Amino acid sequence: MRRKIVAGNWKMNKNVIDAQQLMIQLLSYKNNNATNCEVWIAPPSLYLMMAKDIYEKEEIGVFSQDMSEHESGAYTGEISADMLESIDANGSLIGHSERRQYHGETDSHCNRKIKLALDKGLIPVYCNGETLEQRKAGQHLEVVKTQTETALFTLSAEEIKRVVIAYEPVWAIGTGETATPEQAQEIHAHIRNIIAAKYGKEVADEVSILYGGSVKPDNAKEIFSQPDIDGGLIGGAALKLEDFSKIIEAFN
Ligand code: 13P
Repeated sequence: MRRKIVAGNWKMNKNVIDAQQLMIQLLSYKNNNATNCEVWIAPPSLYLMMAKDIYEKEEIGVFSQDMSEHESGAYTGEISADMLESIDANGSLIGHSERRQYHGETDSHCNRKIKLALDKGLIPVYCNGETLEQRKAGQHLEVVKTQTETALFTLSAEEIKRVVIAYEPVWAIGTGETATPEQAQEIHAHIRNIIAAKYGKEVADEVSILYGGSVKPDNAKEIFSQPDIDGGLIGGAALKLEDFSKIIEAFN
């Protein structure tokens, strides 16, 4: 059985007081409700240690939103896989489209980051997805194939099983426009087939693939019910317990 996951990407939101408040609300929610999926958050890196303190029993997975492709050294502003490991973080988002768009990240950068994360026992959540132009031009299947192969195909079968993929069509992020469950399922199955072609079906069947892009309480259930969709990476709707908890409950 593949792991089912609802992960919240907080992006660059919340001051320390508000972040602490939501973390505590989420803990209390988790302690009082049986959930049928794992719950992860990716708060700003400034708050990762606070999150680890609050979730001392690993009730909720704690992820950074990015990490460096370098091991250590003169890289001002960056955090390393080693640092994440040292605070017992569970993993890191890698290759989010906002990193690609505003910070020039490529699939090759992602490949190096993913390898470093795995070497430190962290879970890489590899984000990919096509832009609106690429979808309009009918290139989405090819784009996602290249993203998947370039970032992941240097990994061993054992390594790729530990990767979580998040398919996030750029045109659906923060726009209120969601891929239809059928559109998302098509790409998720496509990604799984690409992995199966190289690593075999058994390996591909173990890789969790999340959908991200305007997932909300009212569309989560239908999206998560697709056979190759194993959960969601949630942006805006992860910033309030009221919305995020309803998305978690889409698995109930
Ligand atoms: P929204 O849910 O706000 O569209 O963001 C999705 C996302 O980018 C999660 O990483």
